[in-house]
Amino acid sequence: MPKTPSSAGSRAVALTDRTDDRPVYVVGGGPGGLAAAAALRARGVRVVVLEKADRVGASWRGHYDRLHLHTTRRWSALPGLKMPRRFGRWVGRDDLVRYLEKYTEHHELEVVTGVEVTRVDPAPDGSGDWQLTATGGRVLRGRAVVVATGFNHTPRVPDWPGRDTYTGELLHAARYRNPAPYADRDVLVVGVGNTGAEIAADLAEGGASRVRIAVRTAPHIVRRSTAGWPAQATGILVRRLPVRLVDRAAAVLSRIAVPDLSAQGLPRPDSGLASRARQGAIPVQDVGLIAAVRSGRVTPVAAVASFDGDSVVLADGTRLTPDTVIAATGYDRALEPLLGHLGVLDGRGRPAVHGGRTPKAAPGLYFTGFTNPISGMLREMARDAEKIARKVAKRIAKAEARAAR
Ligand SMILES: Cc1cc2nc3c(=O)[nH]c(=O)nc-3n(C[C@H](O)[C@H](O)[C@H](O)COP(=O)(O)OP(=O)(O)OC[C@H]3O[C@@H](n4cnc5c(N)ncnc54)[C@H](O)[C@@H]3O)c2cc1C
Repeated sequence: MPKTPSSAGSRAVALTDRTDDRPVYVVGGGPGGLAAAAALRARGVRVVVLEKADRVGASWRGHYDRLHLHTTRRWSALPGLKMPRRFGRWVGRDDLVRYLEKYTEHHELEVVTGVEVTRVDPAPDGSGDWQLTATGGRVLRGRAVVVATGFNHTPRVPDWPGRDTYTGELLHAARYRNPAPYADRDVLVVGVGNTGAEIAADLAEGGASRVRIAVRTAPHIVRRSTAGWPAQATGILVRRLPVRLVDRAAAVLSRIAVPDLSAQGLPRPDSGLASRARQGAIPVQDVGLIAAVRSGRVTPVAAVASFDGDSVVLADGTRLTPDTVIAATGYDRALEPLLGHLGVLDGRGRPAVHGGRTPKAAPGLYFTGFTNPISGMLREMARDAEKIARKVAKRIAKAEARAAR
C-alpha cells in the first residue's frame, strides 16, 4: 500500500489500481509535480509523472551552490513527508534534492524520466480524456493532466540592442554555480531579483575584483528573518489583507528593518510591496546584498540599455567594460508550445487558474507552480496538490459511477 499524505489519507478512496491504463499524467517531476502525484496516489488514483530530465528535481540540481530556501523547512515540506530537523531552518539546495528523491521513494511514485511532453490535447474521441504527445513518438492517454513544468522554465535574456555582437562574456544566471571562475574578475550582474541579489553577494564574498549590479526598478528588500520571525510568516498572515493596507504596513516595517541605501545607489522602491507582488515581483530576501552594498563590495548601477562591441551601455549613458555579464533577468514559463492552442493561458502566458480549478474550456487540465505568492511557492504547491487530488478523485469517481450505470 502506498504511504498516504496525512491530510488526504483519511479520506482516501481506492478508485482505480496500478493497472489502470488511463492514469492521470503529471507533467514535470519537480516539487509541484511530485506533491500533486503523492496527493493523487493517496486517494487511490493511478498517477504517472513524466519528467524530461533523467532524475526528479532537475531544476534544483541546476541551481547555484550556495542556494538555501528563503522559506522555512516546516512551510516548505510537501504533503505527507516532513523534512528532517537536521536540514536546519533554511534548507540547502542539496538537502532539498535529497528530500525530493526520498519523497518519490516514500510515496512510491511512478516516475518516467527522459520523457518530454511536447503537446497536450483533448482526446480526439470526445471522451473527456486527455492525450499527450511526448518525445520518442509517444502518444499517451490520461483521465486528467496536471501541468507542473515550472515557473522558471526557460532562461530569459532580454533582446538588448547589440547583444548578439557583444564581444565580452554574457551568460544567464541559470549557468552560474559559484564564484570560483570569477575570482579577480570584474562582473556586472543584471537584475536585482532574489537570484541577482544573491549572486552579486556571492561574487563579492567569493573574490571577484569588482561587482556591480544593474538595477532597473528598485526592489523591496526584506530580512529573511527578524528576531526569529520569518518573513514568510508575515507573507502568510497578510496574504488575504487588502493590498493597500499591506503596502503601507510593509513600508513602515521596511524603514525600521532595512537601512536606506539611496546614497549607495539603491533607493527605496516607489510602489508598494504587495502591489508589486501582485504583478509577479516578489520581494528580495536579504542574504548578503545589504551588507555588500553598504560596504561598497557591490555597487548598484543603472539598468542595461544596450551592448556595443566590448561595452555595456547603461540607461544613464555610462559605458562599462566588465569581464563578465551575468543576466539574472528571469525565466519564461514557455507553456505556449505545450498548450497555447487550448486558450487556457492569460496575456502573460500563465495559466489563468491553478489548484483545484480547471479552465472552463479544458475540464480535467490542472496547473500547479505558476503563481509565486509571497507566502512561499512550495507551501502553495503543497496546498494545490491536495486541492487537485480532491477534484480529480471526484471527477474520476463520477465518471466511474456513470460507466457502471
Ligand atoms: C533560485 C530559486 C530559489 C527558490 N527558492 C524558493 C524558496 O525558498 N521557497 C519556495 O517556496 N520557493 C522557492 N522557489 C520557487 C519554487 O519553489 C521552485 O522554483 C520550485 O522548484 C518549483 O517547483 P515546480 O515543480 O513548479 O518546478 P520545477 O522545480 O522547475 O520542476 C519542473 C520540472 O518539470 C520538468 N519539465 C519541464 N517541462 C517538461 C516537459 N515538457 N515534459 C516533461 N518534464 C518537463 C523539468 O525538467 C523539471 O524537473 C525558488 C525558485 C528559484 C528559481
